[in-house]
Amino acid sequence: MAKVYYENEISKEVLQNKKIAVVGYGSQGHAHALNLKDSGYDVVIGIREGKSFDQAVQDGFEVYPVSEAVRAADVVMVLLPDERQPEVYKNEILPELTAGNALVFAHGFNVHYHQVVPPENVDVFLVAPKGPGHLVRRTYEAGEGVPALFAVYQDATGTARETALAYAEGIGAARAGVLETSFQEETETDLFGEQAVLCGGLTSLVKAGFETLTEAGYQPEVAYFECLHELKLIVDLMYEGGLEGMRYSISDTAQWGDFQSGPRIINGAVKESMKEVLNEVQNGVFAKNWILENQANRPVFHSVNEKEKNHPIEKVGRELREMMPFVKAKQKKEAVVSAN
Ligand code: NDP
Ligand code: MG
Ligand code: MG
Repeated sequence: MAKVYYENEISKEVLQNKKIAVVGYGSQGHAHALNLKDSGYDVVIGIREGKSFDQAVQDGFEVYPVSEAVRAADVVMVLLPDERQPEVYKNEILPELTAGNALVFAHGFNVHYHQVVPPENVDVFLVAPKGPGHLVRRTYEAGEGVPALFAVYQDATGTARETALAYAEGIGAARAGVLETSFQEETETDLFGEQAVLCGGLTSLVKAGFETLTEAGYQPEVAYFECLHELKLIVDLMYEGGLEGMRYSISDTAQWGDFQSGPRIINGAVKESMKEVLNEVQNGVFAKNWILENQANRPVFHSVNEKEKNHPIEKVGRELREMMPFVKAKQKKEAVVSAN
């Protein structure tokens, strides 16, 4: 088992008297900035003008253009969308970094795949909460925290690891527990998880089930309830008690069906495909395609997105959710998925 770090074993000294620039004020940005401020740290925000800028001002921060915030800071946490980071880094962050600064991320993608190449004289580490920003903030305010991973990529000062732990403590993560990883492991497992299981695997499983039932003549409304709507109940049970906890709550018939049919659906061939997907994450092919897709203004992304919106499961779902206002209200609140 991995070693888990808690508050009492983390020294805060290394981060005290340092100025922290949080660059970006979205899901993660607002949560890191507010939690660090409430933990007593000196925080400024670096952001372009717009909605986030106004929000940060309203929340009482000193807000600057990115380059000015970086210039003033010792520790620079980059919480921009991953696809935007390389350009902002090159134009507004890199020119302002000085020896001994810390350059920090919440996801390893850009550093691991060399889209951001840090100078040798700065510390580089990541602190990645295992939850969306709004949960990071809400739990902090309740005296709790969301667990986080941390990893050191480059230790120029000799104190990168201590600084990473102090940062994780500052956002409240050490109340729940902080685990060490590497940029490689964090990046590759994150991409694999969202592709094979959380997002890609799940949406395709749901659609295949829905299509199988409707093609066999069953009503789309009933198929929607069985293959999509009821997932929430099952996932909540798994979240609370693992597979065993979920199976304890379902009927024995459902559990027997799980044992008999699950391995026939997600079979050896599926696992072989998962290995191919993992291989493309590891060898950089996935990253290269996504980077080029962004450079080309996302033609494939947009066309698949349009097609997906028109899938019959989406049409029937929109209608059914209108009948369930309780679902819609909750959906908005909890819409930010941690599959970042
Ligand atoms: P969001 O999309 O929520 O926020 C991005 C922020 O960057 C916004 O404030 C946006 O401001 C700002 N921004 C965008 N472009 C620019 C620009 N060119 N110059 C200056 N500011 C800009 O991002 P997330 O918080 O979701 O993600 C940030 C990082 O955290 C990513 O590395 C992600 O992988 C990681 N992460 C995310 C998690 C999550 O659950 N969301 C979980 C763990 C890690 P504006 O309003 O002007 O667009
Ligand atoms: Mg049933
Ligand atoms: Mg991700």
